[in-house]
Amino acid sequence: MAQQQLLARLTCPNCRTSFAIPVEQVLDVEMDPSAKARLLAGQINLAVCPACGFASTLEIPFIYHDPRKELALVYMPMAAGRTDMERQQAIGALSRAVMSTLPQDQRKSYLLSPQVFLSYESLVNRVLEADGVTPEMIQAQRDRADLLKRLLEASTPEERMALIQENEAMLDESFFRILSLNLEQANALGREEAFGRLMEVRALLLEQTAIGRKLAARSRALQALQADPTREKLLDLLVESEDPATRAILVTFGQPLVDYLFFQKLTRRIESETDEEKRKHLEALREEVMGIREQVRAQAREEVQAKLHLLRDLLTSEQPELLARRRLVEMDDLFLNVLASEMESAQQAGDQEIFSRLQEVWRLVMRILQEQVPPELLLMTQLLEAPDEETMRQVLEANSPMLTRGFLELLERMEQDFRERGEEEVAQKVARALELARTMAPARPEEKRPPQRPSGLVMVRG
Ligand SMILES: [Zn+2]
Repeated sequence: MAQQQLLARLTCPNCRTSFAIPVEQVLDVEMDPSAKARLLAGQINLAVCPACGFASTLEIPFIYHDPRKELALVYMPMAAGRTDMERQQAIGALSRAVMSTLPQDQRKSYLLSPQVFLSYESLVNRVLEADGVTPEMIQAQRDRADLLKRLLEASTPEERMALIQENEAMLDESFFRILSLNLEQANALGREEAFGRLMEVRALLLEQTAIGRKLAARSRALQALQADPTREKLLDLLVESEDPATRAILVTFGQPLVDYLFFQKLTRRIESETDEEKRKHLEALREEVMGIREQVRAQAREEVQAKLHLLRDLLTSEQPELLARRRLVEMDDLFLNVLASEMESAQQAGDQEIFSRLQEVWRLVMRILQEQVPPELLLMTQLLEAPDEETMRQVLEANSPMLTRGFLELLERMEQDFRERGEEEVAQKVARALELARTMAPARPEEKRPPQRPSGLVMVRG
């Protein structure tokens, strides 16, 4: 799997600055779960000039692959300026690039004939359609985004109020989601002015619309539960809340509190309630909470099932390592817990063969997860764990290419940190490692490592 970072050299059409950006040609949502969000946000091969901030989209072909949905979509813009033959070749190269990262048993036929799109937008619509999003829903989203834009541009509070009143029907939870996304983005990009204006609009909406007041009440209820996570408080909040969605969220977040004791309290309240109507309300609440709890539990069971399924795939795959690498994001704490408990059961049942196969999977996953730890950190741990100076020297020698100026500086900072925290012994150990490392790392120019993408994207050479 040769990973080649393809760079595009560009000249900014706005200020003539020339710069280079990495080009993405293969987007695989299993290997890079952020790919889908980036695609939908229009950020694939988006070139932003470092000098003036001018943004433009590169018209470079790419393939989008979602194995769960069996989607293989190729963006092949007209402006790529290729002949028919060349286009077919480029499409073939892209689907082969995806295939090469797949275990043999997952190379399915849909990859051989990817769907081709001339515009970025039509490809995005296909991805949304696979999620059950209809063109009407896309239009509804667009209308809301447009309304938000107009609200932001309105220059006076009166103008904003008028817009709110005229468009009451569009101000729903989905509008608030768009607003939240915009806030997050403005915050992440450090756009203070835009952030401030978004907050103004949000405050106005929370105050002036029915949906806004409902959402504000929801967030107050959640905060109250966070501040006082007791059965009593949860019960009070559930009784007070008039919105079923808010109650469901309260039960989901407060799930550890929803136990036998909780229902006992609720039952006692029902029994001591003299007002007929209020008692009926409490009884309905008890039913509702039980229903939500059952849903939450069913969901948890489903998640465990999914991990067991993955485990079975790993046990039966001919290329477990390739599979494990592809499904890395799913190898979370829950997966490891499930795996550990399966190993325990096998051991208890005295099934040595299953146990050792599970153990193999465990070792494989651990090895892959360890690779994800930055190598500097790994080396640091090895140094600190070295029982004597000779071992330390060997560790350093084995890792000599890593003894860069940056790593030496890291050691210096660590030494200082440990000293400040009063961990004198560890500080001395780091100091010793630093001394040794200095003798081994002759002054040499800092080699630049290519910027590593956390996404693990595979680049195809065009
Ligand atoms: Zn520019």
